[in-house]
Amino acid sequence: MRILLLGGTADSREAAALLAAAGHEVVTSLAGRTAQARAGGGRVGGFGGVAGLVDFLTTSEVDAVVDATHPFAAQMSQNAAAACVQADVHVLRLSRPGWGDHPYAAEWIWVADHAAAAQAAAALGGRVLLTVGRQPLPAYHGLPDVAARVAEWQGAAIPAGWRIIEARGPYTLDAERALLRDEAIQLLVSKDSGGDQTAAKLDAAHELGVRVIMVTRPAPPAGVPEVATPAELLAWLEGRESPQCDTNEP
Ligand code: NAP
Repeated sequence: MRILLLGGTADSREAAALLAAAGHEVVTSLAGRTAQARAGGGRVGGFGGVAGLVDFLTTSEVDAVVDATHPFAAQMSQNAAAACVQADVHVLRLSRPGWGDHPYAAEWIWVADHAAAAQAAAALGGRVLLTVGRQPLPAYHGLPDVAARVAEWQGAAIPAGWRIIEARGPYTLDAERALLRDEAIQLLVSKDSGGDQTAAKLDAAHELGVRVIMVTRPAPPAGVPEVATPAELLAWLEGRESPQCDTNEP
């Protein structure tokens, strides 16, 4: 099967290796937001919206699309769902479960989006560790005392009183504990990304009495089947033989 894998996550890298080992032809696509992504091979950059993706699917004779983008990459997921309807191509979402079942989830302040997270953080006060990535940071610019951890900083202006920490997971519990202590963090803001790679901060916060604000995931695209692991993904794809768009199923 010729598969377009929309990537940008650790799970997408594992899925690409598994699908290739099973004999599928995999084209991995990345948005190209970081130098690492741009240097990694595969295709890089947007398709040009739904119409551009339909064109790519048709001209490249793609049999199936695997949407393994980050749970917060909502635009790409919506575009993939819509394009697959138009191009009549299978689409499947690979999405690890969120942290709703985490042992400390009931202690956290759950909010709908970054604006609500910034508002809650301002109301609580204190020094904040933002672990929401680079793109949503402007929503938090009103906070005065912030450490923001990002995978790659690209030199944009930051408010006075802010510090940028460039780092990539996975993170250990020891390192997260040390970071919260060294930075004198009183409040942690996180997206409900799920998975193990960045979960240690949640245990460290619990241990140190640091409050957690958790941004809820955006809604996934309607009608797109979802699996939680690369192994489930492979099993699902191997159960499909001819191109058919699942978003058309009742
Ligand atoms: P987004 O807001 O959902 O997408 C915005 C636009 O970027 C899309 O419409 C598409 O442009 C392009 N795009 C996004 N993902 C792409 C991909 N895999 N291949 C080709 N084009 C892509 O996406 P985002 O939140 O900026 O995320 C960008 C990338 O970073 C994704 O690959 C995602 O998996 C990864 N990532 C995101 C987060 C996060 O929190 N959002 C965290 C970690 C990693 P066109 O409309 O021109 O096709």
